[in-house]
Amino acid sequence: MRRSLKNGDFRLVYQPIIDARDETMVGVEALCRWRHPVRGETPPSAFIAIAEESGLIEQLGLFVLRQACLDARNWPGVIVSVNVSPRQFEDERFPEAVLKILAETGLEPSRLELELTENLAVVDLDLARAKMLALQNHGVRVALDDFGSGHSSLNYLLSLPFDKLKVDRFFVSKIESGSASAAIIHAIVSIGRALGMHVTAEGVETAEQQQFLRVAGVHSFQGFRFSRPVDASEISSRLQAQQALAQLLPTPPAPLTMAVDAHGLS
Ligand code: C2E
Ligand code: MG
Ligand code: MG
Repeated sequence: MRRSLKNGDFRLVYQPIIDARDETMVGVEALCRWRHPVRGETPPSAFIAIAEESGLIEQLGLFVLRQACLDARNWPGVIVSVNVSPRQFEDERFPEAVLKILAETGLEPSRLELELTENLAVVDLDLARAKMLALQNHGVRVALDDFGSGHSSLNYLLSLPFDKLKVDRFFVSKIESGSASAAIIHAIVSIGRALGMHVTAEGVETAEQQQFLRVAGVHSFQGFRFSRPVDASEISSRLQAQQALAQLLPTPPAPLTMAVDAHGLS
């Protein structure tokens, strides 16, 4: 892994995040891939835990953050989400390291979102809150990833100032199979909205799931229904196509306003 970090065997792919209202791409999530010199393409499920155990996650995490910020400079207006391992977040110099990378790459902080997994074992909630605020004060957003998959969900929502909540893929995958998951999703969306958070649904694969989630009030979608994770160059071409289409479409008419004067409607 150490050698691979030096040799450039790690790279990023990006999965689009889609606005629920008009289905445009409003964000991307950076996902790490390892082309292992012997084993070939290796998924994060097989290497993130090893990177965490060996202590290499800090170096890998910094690489991911820097590369995502560099790539995102080519995508004006798009938010780039980066996964942060609990080990990285535990480091007291973490906010400083993030701000340094933003300054070096020149990406506006408001275009970066950090995803903290719900499996984060926060020992000191006050310290975690202080770190989040240090980043949020500069405009960086913080999302709670895989919401509902861990044990501390509600406690985290009560104590930590998240900007976004990502509904775990597990619940989305069960939408069509029963009313229990539908009820849970409704509850998650109302909690998120009541706390003023943006809600994204992960793992959206079918039209039925999309329809259900839209009606339930989810703000954005991520999943194979819209796109698998793709290379940075593919994100650039899709954004260009999206912009070209937006220029072709007629601008929506200004809302009809009616003035009422002494002579009636005018
Ligand atoms: P995550 O952050 O929840 O990322 C979403 C995962 O769901 C990605 O898997 C993505 O490919 C997959 N996915 C997206 N849409 C669908 C869908 O419609 N159906 C299904 N079945 N899967 C979908 P991936 O890329 O294998 O990543 C797995 C996990 O590894 C991530 O979950 C994240 O926790 C972790 N990870 C990935 N990259 C990094 C990284 O750079 N740093 C850290 N710390 N963790 C990372
Ligand atoms: Mg994530
Ligand atoms: Mg997730």
